[in-house]
Amino acid sequence: LFVDTPLADGHSVRIEGGQAHYLSAVMRMKVGDPVRLFDDISGEWLAEAEVVGKRDVILRITGKLAEREPVPDLWLCAAPIKKGRVDWVAEKACELGVARLVPVLTRRTVIDRVNTERLRAHMIEAAEQCGRSALPEMAEPVKLLSLMKNWPAERTMFFADENGGLPAFEAMRARPGPAAILIGPEGGFDPQERDVIRAVPQAVGLSLGPRILRAETAAAAAISLWMAAAGD
Ligand code: SAM
Repeated sequence: LFVDTPLADGHSVRIEGGQAHYLSAVMRMKVGDPVRLFDDISGEWLAEAEVVGKRDVILRITGKLAEREPVPDLWLCAAPIKKGRVDWVAEKACELGVARLVPVLTRRTVIDRVNTERLRAHMIEAAEQCGRSALPEMAEPVKLLSLMKNWPAERTMFFADENGGLPAFEAMRARPGPAAILIGPEGGFDPQERDVIRAVPQAVGLSLGPRILRAETAAAAAISLWMAAAGD
């Protein structure tokens, strides 16, 4: 369970709202039951239930299980897509191990508001489900042109290009180190945007195969390939 407060041995934490409901009503937690907690700072802890109520649950930390896990240095920079699909992307990006999710606003982006709180909530749920003790960072949406202008010098940008590029796995394996994957919206990047992306010295155009994938499929496939190439 993710707890948004720094944890330490012997401390008690009060869990409220949806998480308390989940523990008491869904998991039917009883006093003395164990639960694993993480705070995204200090690592993973074992706790046990001291008080179990409908509205709040009090957990006492009994010991440390693990340090915060090391996170592979991969960002997913993806144009926001429709609601259910972008939620799926956030969930899968977290499960597959990305360090940072960056919503990128492009000319053909059809979504006018990106709900980063909702996306973060999906990543927290995914982290709890898959046993991550470190959450991906949820970045604020950024315009493509500004992201490209300020691209960090040390970070390779793997640009997933449905018009063709280097075979993804080999290209990723040949370029270890900090990286990002760039995925376009449903309608793809427009020609001018493609020129701006290609002009970034760290950009490497990749193909994910001969079929045109939905943006969310392309994101999950590219992250999996990068993790496999990096051995993470
Ligand atoms: N422009 C396309 C069209 O409307 O025909 C579709 C764009 S595709 C649905 C969305 C994004 O997924 C693309 O911008 C690209 O980043 C990625 N993508 C899809 N298929 C891909 C492939 N075979 N190789 C690399 N990237 C791909």
